[in-house]
Amino acid sequence: MSLGHSELAPIGLFGGTFDPIHHGHLRPALELYEILGLAEVRLLPCADPPHRGRPLAPAPFRLEMAQAAVHDQPGLVVDDREMRRPGPSYTRDTLESFRAEFGEHRSLLLILGSDAFLGLPKWHRWEGLLELAHIVVAHRPGWALKPGAVLGDVMARRETDNAEDLHRLPAGRIYRQQVTQLEISSTTIREILDRGGSVRYLTPDPVVRMVEGSPHYFSTPARSVARVTR
Ligand code: ATP
Repeated sequence: MSLGHSELAPIGLFGGTFDPIHHGHLRPALELYEILGLAEVRLLPCADPPHRGRPLAPAPFRLEMAQAAVHDQPGLVVDDREMRRPGPSYTRDTLESFRAEFGEHRSLLLILGSDAFLGLPKWHRWEGLLELAHIVVAHRPGWALKPGAVLGDVMARRETDNAEDLHRLPAGRIYRQQVTQLEISSTTIREILDRGGSVRYLTPDPVVRMVEGSPHYFSTPARSVARVTR
């Protein structure tokens, strides 16, 4: 079986706070699209992340940055459904909405960096996620994939090293994929911005222009007044 980008190929779903989006998100997303022969990868900025503090930038701005980052890249698209839904952005609800839209036979891949994957047992109704989608774990620098007992047990039952399973079945497998290791995080970008540094080459230029001119990522009193206005 060849893993081509057919119309019925799996759809990759890559959620995040994207506060802001950066090359550590984008390069793995593009590599997974190409290596796994996906129909597309949907980037899903969350409205209200349940497992962490409130993002610095408001949801519409994070959405706009994600759109600016991928506007000229075939295969990567931004999906705003989590922002259109009130309340916490539970992945389970997102997967159910994709399942309802694409039907029971279409393969869906939930893409997680290794840090997010290791935190999975803290997620809302996480055990059922594999009924709705496969999980693809993209290696992230600094996060060795050493799961605890509960996650380790799920991996023992669900892991596959055959990418064709992701095309053949609609859901239910865990697959690890090596991607180019880019030690970039939104936290580092926010820290650099706050001290007045440049974030060029950490994120695409359209995003650089948006964040360097935005009040959201600066904590000095004069700028923090503006932060709440957008
Ligand atoms: P923050 O520093 O604010 O926690 P982040 O850089 O970790 O943000 P998120 O938006 O929280 O970015 O991450 C969304 C998804 O992208 C998660 O699954 C995360 O594991 C993955 N991810 C983020 N950065 C990288 C990276 N450099 N390499 C691989 N995966 C990444």
